[in-house]
Amino acid sequence: MTGPDAETKMQFLYALRSRGIMEQSVLEAMEAVDRGLFLRGIFAARAYEDVPLPISCGQTISQPSVVGLMTQALEVSPRDTVLEIGTGSGYQAAILAKLARRVYTIERHARLVHEARQVFNQLHLANITSLVGDGSFGMPEQAPFDRIIVTAAAEDPPGPLLAQLKTGGIMVVPVGQSDAVQTLIRVRKTETGLEYDELRPVRFVPLLEGLGKDT
Ligand code: SAM
Repeated sequence: MTGPDAETKMQFLYALRSRGIMEQSVLEAMEAVDRGLFLRGIFAARAYEDVPLPISCGQTISQPSVVGLMTQALEVSPRDTVLEIGTGSGYQAAILAKLARRVYTIERHARLVHEARQVFNQLHLANITSLVGDGSFGMPEQAPFDRIIVTAAAEDPPGPLLAQLKTGGIMVVPVGQSDAVQTLIRVRKTETGLEYDELRPVRFVPLLEGLGKDT
């Protein structure tokens, strides 16, 4: 794999900036991680288009500008421990791994975890721990987390995840009915409670219960 040429990379970064991703560390992480490695077959050639694309198990890799906006909203710093729900292709986790101390990521499809791990190894991303499971319950054994990102839509921010967020922590999650446009929200946990920020409309696959059937 050779990755994108300089022109493609420049256009990719330009498109991200024009969609509101201004944080330099996020842009650098997105420049460093080749999205093409997380796609298969004919879809790898479309890696630098700002669109969601199909991955195994009938799931999708998110649109790069949405990945960028969610990462920026998370305000990750190098000492943070981040929990991601919905590993999918592993692309979002790989970007977080460039910004955080450690990333835990959970996915309900075993096949997706297996495929994502192969790319993490290829990229020598040793600070990602990936697990098969129902991420709605978080990862109590590793909690609390500085940052939590949910990349599937929930009707409400899941209670177990809010409980596993540190005071001072941030969670980013798409919220709303699964078959409609949802709202991306940011939750800050403060000494006095939870503060909610509406960021933008998004469209994500739903956060589902239990483990997935691999296809
Ligand atoms: N972050 C991914 C990436 O970078 O490619 C994109 C995630 S995709 C839009 C949503 C993922 O969430 C799917 O792979 C789906 O199987 C997963 N998912 C849905 N409900 C889940 C749950 N309860 N626990 C873990 N993963 C879940």
